[in-house]
Amino acid sequence: MNYDIVILGSGPAGLTAAIYASRAGVTTLLVEGIFPGGQLTITTDIENFPGFPTGIKGPKLMELIRKQAERFGAEFRSGDVSSVSLAKRPFKVTTDSGEVSCRALVVATGSYARWLGLTSEQELMGRGVSACATCDGFFFKGQEIAVVGGGDTAMEEALFLASLASKVTVIHRRGELRASRILQERAFGNPRIAFRWHSIVDEVLSGEGGVAGVRLKDTRTGELSEIRVTGLFIAIGHEPNTRIFRGQLELDDQGYIVTRPGSMSTSVAGVFAAGDVRDRMYKQAVTAAGTGCMAALEACRLLQSEGGTT
Ligand code: NAP
Repeated sequence: MNYDIVILGSGPAGLTAAIYASRAGVTTLLVEGIFPGGQLTITTDIENFPGFPTGIKGPKLMELIRKQAERFGAEFRSGDVSSVSLAKRPFKVTTDSGEVSCRALVVATGSYARWLGLTSEQELMGRGVSACATCDGFFFKGQEIAVVGGGDTAMEEALFLASLASKVTVIHRRGELRASRILQERAFGNPRIAFRWHSIVDEVLSGEGGVAGVRLKDTRTGELSEIRVTGLFIAIGHEPNTRIFRGQLELDDQGYIVTRPGSMSTSVAGVFAAGDVRDRMYKQAVTAAGTGCMAALEACRLLQSEGGTT
């Protein structure tokens, strides 16, 4: 089956690209991936997506954006993509249910937050455990919480959370931070931020309303201790979903797809990237949707300039 545009990924970037492409009248297929709806489906209330003054649940928002794309005729295919062939056009995309080809490809496969890997962490996700301070910090206003990690993300999250919470404890596995000096200085200078050095999370403790505390293990002595917190933010980095593009698209040193400045075009003509798969900076639903729009518009313009659509 041949399409004008195939979109990989069903988060806000992919779905917005599908709205724009299908509304422009080009044949559009969206391959959903193993995690339909993307990372927003594991968040609770989204209060900062424009247009929803009282907030909206993540899965509901994704359902609405999907319906909008369906309205203009975008086709959807569930399942994952096992490989892509980008050496020449039409590009070939192999999915769980067969091969499709396309004249333009939009990669919106997103990224995933690294987790500690504890069962208790998974069980309490969305009930006090989060990987996004901007998304969930508001729910911990005036409470004591903790952030795991020692990099720039952890310091940014801790600084943001310190404006809401009464106390933020940063839990770091070493005795010095990886974060840039400026963020370190800001964090050290904030009276609401405390540090637990040489510590890893041994267990997330649950109570009636969700997280009740964290059991810590000293990495030097093995000694266990507990802190009482109602929220735990994991900020140990993200990984972009770009494994299948290695060797075919230019990736940066952390594996994110490189796009040209001011554009969503990649190192291969006809392949565009949108959303978190190319964004180590903002990682917001609204920025993902914005870049999804840009990628689809650029793809449509390319097809038009080459002489119409299928
Ligand atoms: P990162 O720099 O890779 O830092 C991850 C942190 O988490 C490290 O301190 C690491 O500890 C810790 N960590 C990793 N795995 C862990 C585990 N299993 N258990 C406990 N701790 C663990 O990731 P990031 O902070 O997300 O930053 C990613 C990139 O984005 C960096 O290049 C960063 O500079 C950039 N960034 C920049 C800004 C900014 O400039 N404003 C903001 C955010 C991110 P170790 O230190 O011991 O390895």
